[in-house]
Amino acid sequence: MAATEPLDIDLLRRSAREFFAHEYPPPRIRAMDEAQELDPQLWRDIAALGWLGLSIPQEYGGAGASTVAAAVLMEEIARAFASLAVDYALGGMIARLLSDVGTPEQRVRWLTGFAAGEEILSFGISEPSGGTDALALTTRARLNGDHWVVTGQKLWTSMAHKASAIITVARTDDPDPPDRRARGISLIIVPTGQPGLSISRVHLAGMRAAGTCLCYFDGATAPANHLLGPRGRGFHAMLGMLNVERVLAGAISVGIARGALEDAVAYAKDRHAFGRPIGAFQAIQHPLAETAAELEAARLLVHHVAERIDAGEQPTKEAAMAKLFAAEVAIRATDRGMRTMAAHGLAAESDMQRYFRDARLQVFSPVSNEMAKNIVGEALGMPRSY
Ligand SMILES: Cc1cc2nc3c(=O)[nH]c(=O)nc-3n(C[C@H](O)[C@H](O)[C@H](O)COP(=O)(O)OP(=O)(O)OC[C@H]3O[C@@H](n4cnc5c(N)ncnc54)[C@H](O)[C@@H]3O)c2cc1C
Repeated sequence: MAATEPLDIDLLRRSAREFFAHEYPPPRIRAMDEAQELDPQLWRDIAALGWLGLSIPQEYGGAGASTVAAAVLMEEIARAFASLAVDYALGGMIARLLSDVGTPEQRVRWLTGFAAGEEILSFGISEPSGGTDALALTTRARLNGDHWVVTGQKLWTSMAHKASAIITVARTDDPDPPDRRARGISLIIVPTGQPGLSISRVHLAGMRAAGTCLCYFDGATAPANHLLGPRGRGFHAMLGMLNVERVLAGAISVGIARGALEDAVAYAKDRHAFGRPIGAFQAIQHPLAETAAELEAARLLVHHVAERIDAGEQPTKEAAMAKLFAAEVAIRATDRGMRTMAAHGLAAESDMQRYFRDARLQVFSPVSNEMAKNIVGEALGMPRSY
């Protein structure tokens, strides 16, 4: 995906801030978090703003924007509503996959529909038995005449209950040789709303409105031409988007950390104890100053990696670092925010407790921080640890 036209990134940032301030202020976000669902109107609104098409090539109704632009918008969305950012990031990743390996027909059908907000697609790789060891997946698809038959389970599949199809990562062929587990895995676009596929919501403590689902495939079918990318090379097709996925996950962490910092500073200036604002106490001020410094560093790293991706590089080590570092910054920022606000941070109507809960996802998804360290360690020349 090339950045085809310069986009005013400052304008994008400003318009995102104004959108949330005016259209979806914190009480509306809080209501969605409590309801554990995104308001469908919010998805339509971000489609109308052109956000869903931001990274989609122009010929399919998108803006063909850069990874840097996507990172900036991602931070703004996550600052306001991290659950939405998770779904938005996932959509962007699917769009990139379709742009990279989709057939012309698949691109026209799904990319155009996604950019317009008319089609929601989910992506199912994680299974009940685990997400980190993705190659151990047990979902199978076999070609039966002119259609695929899919059997297995996917867990934590975001937005599956609203999607028109799930891009399902399934084994279609035995790996050859057996120890090359990435071989024989394919991507199948499985339509929802059929008897062989049941989808149920899974409720979480964090990212509550992201719409996490359990998908049970019991002979679900998909037309043969719903194979996305080459048969047996699905895992290889996904590799091209992993760095983007990781750097955008870093941008989500930056957005959450910024929310925690801004709210904590505002509270520290306003709340008084012993005749002074609590922000006058060094014990309150220093942790927030540390968060401010870490936040700047995380954002710079995210943007640096995004720029390298836009320059056509595959900075695998640095993308893993950005994801890892920013997630830990978000954890520390939200912990410090909770300490600053004490009981008020824990109150149901406080946004801080939402940031705190949402930040927990960032350490294990889309890749766990432990696995990110494995990637960095290997890139440093040490033996693969897994
Ligand atoms: C809100 C939300 C939305 C999600 N959306 C999606 C989605 O849309 N599609 C999808 O497919 N998945 C989705 N996921 C799943 C997510 O990608 C997984 O949770 C993630 O990949 C981790 O997998 P796991 O939870 O099964 O943990 P596991 O893989 O079971 O790992 C458990 C622990 O073991 C550690 N570990 C495992 N192997 C190693 C190793 N070799 N070295 C060191 N440590 C190791 C991990 O780091 C982790 O700490 C979502 C999850 C959530 C919570």
